[in-house]
Amino acid sequence: MNEEEKVKRVEQRIQLLERLLQAKSPIDEVFRVIAGDKEDPEIAFDAIIEYFQRKVNWKEKILLPINDHLFIVCKDGKPIVKAACGYEFGDFRVNWKVFCKIRVRRNTEDYLEIYPWWQHAHPYFMELREYYCPGCYKLLATEAVPIGHPVVFEFLPDIVTFYEKWLKRPFPCGKVEFKDLTNEYIKNSIKI
Ligand SMILES: [Zn+2]
Repeated sequence: MNEEEKVKRVEQRIQLLERLLQAKSPIDEVFRVIAGDKEDPEIAFDAIIEYFQRKVNWKEKILLPINDHLFIVCKDGKPIVKAACGYEFGDFRVNWKVFCKIRVRRNTEDYLEIYPWWQHAHPYFMELREYYCPGCYKLLATEAVPIGHPVVFEFLPDIVTFYEKWLKRPFPCGKVEFKDLTNEYIKNSIKI
């Protein structure tokens, strides 16, 4: 595939993502996109990066989307998590949830705001955590876990290996060791 053809296909794919993510797509198109991913994963990847890059109004390069509001971006040579609204969470190896505004539901009264009577977890055992973006208060994630359970790290990609070994491209940011830094961050920032 030559460069021109590649650019054209990335562009077509961006249009497709636009329709899919705005839920304007007919169902057969959705299936075609899912099936098409296997044929052309690189085009699919470039298109999704470009799609989000055009949506946000900041300039840092998106390295990998986490969801439709959070992205791993390259900031001053370091991969960090940044929100579409512009809020910066810090090193992507620290679970972004620990920087969120968090609402915890752990009594019947709180559960009943969103669940029908006794269809919620028992507050003696479980709590429901809601993670809100500190920049815009968008609800980013929820988790129902036993009380005291560590914050669930949903997605920690080995991003350097992904670029170098899977995409076979140089990593377009400062290389970092693949490591979960969440506990270290908590240890250094909480004073008892
Ligand atoms: Zn936000």
